[in-house]
Amino acid sequence: MGATEHEYAAAVAAVRSASLLCDRTQGRLVAGDTLTKGDDSPVTVADFAAQAVVCAELAERLGRFDLVGEEDAADLHDDAQVALRDGVVELVAHQIGRSVDARTVLDWIGLGGADGTTDRYWTLDPIDGTKGFVRGDQYAIALALIEHGEVVLGVLGCPNLPNPDGSRGAVFVAADGRCIAWYGATTDPVPVHVARPGSLSAARVCESVESGHSDHDQSARIVERLGIEVDPYRIDSQCKYAAVARGDASIYLRLPTRADYREKIWDHAAGKFVVEQAGGRVTDVTGAPLDFRHGRRLEQNRGVIATDGAFHDEVVAAVAAVLA
Ligand code: AMP
Ligand code: MG
Repeated sequence: MGATEHEYAAAVAAVRSASLLCDRTQGRLVAGDTLTKGDDSPVTVADFAAQAVVCAELAERLGRFDLVGEEDAADLHDDAQVALRDGVVELVAHQIGRSVDARTVLDWIGLGGADGTTDRYWTLDPIDGTKGFVRGDQYAIALALIEHGEVVLGVLGCPNLPNPDGSRGAVFVAADGRCIAWYGATTDPVPVHVARPGSLSAARVCESVESGHSDHDQSARIVERLGIEVDPYRIDSQCKYAAVARGDASIYLRLPTRADYREKIWDHAAGKFVVEQAGGRVTDVTGAPLDFRHGRRLEQNRGVIATDGAFHDEVVAAVAAVLA
């Protein structure tokens, strides 16, 4: 059935609200606002607050839903985290414009506790690219709706993204065969479409800033093999998908740094659909479609290749040759 108009509006409103919260917070983090999770990745007050705000907005507008969110309210339960928890509550209260108690905020975060095994669920990365967020660079709020393993709606908030029109901050929405974006404070969305350079040599590759998330040495070999002459564009988060969708880049390579790593669904669902609805193609490094029917991770996939669609098969072949 795809997303209803009601779900579309709720998702856009939720991502906009979280984007405002994050934009207001970036650059103002103080000691104690950041925690290192069990998997060694950073999380900040804004990650938790953004998840609370998105879940609260969806709950108010849609009632019951299943949502797989990156953040776990349990990380805030411990009394050792009282300062962090207070910081989260303050950010949420400011964003919704009224006071709210910690219990309610933790309950909202807890709405993201689904496991991704039902026929219809949302997935949310409240701050994708937390390392970029903390560094003052790029990050994204990524929300997607998945039906029978297929993404049917993708919303990407990119509050710090520089736009072609000179403004900063964008919201991309993909659904029903098209992708649109709002740039800066404009009220009129623009259509988003991939740009296809005439030759592979002019195609620009984008990849993670973090070499621990995608293998830079291998991507350099792939770029060379494809005869690409343009330097790679390194940018954090699902802003890479946005870059391909609107023609800032032609190819996004995410090359496994470890044989046992499985990508998380919230790191890809919204972005993948933004690229596809903008006219591009997305597969894993073997050329297989991303399969969202296996819970919190893409258990059946390895890495990701997203392209403007023109040279996808050539890129998959070059990746296969280099990774072999
Ligand atoms: P990026 O900003 O594209 O580098 O991606 C950020 C995301 O990388 C985070 O949301 C993590 O979930 C994810 N991540 C963490 N470790 C790895 C890894 N070893 N391989 C791929 N992705 C990872
Ligand atoms: Mg992420």
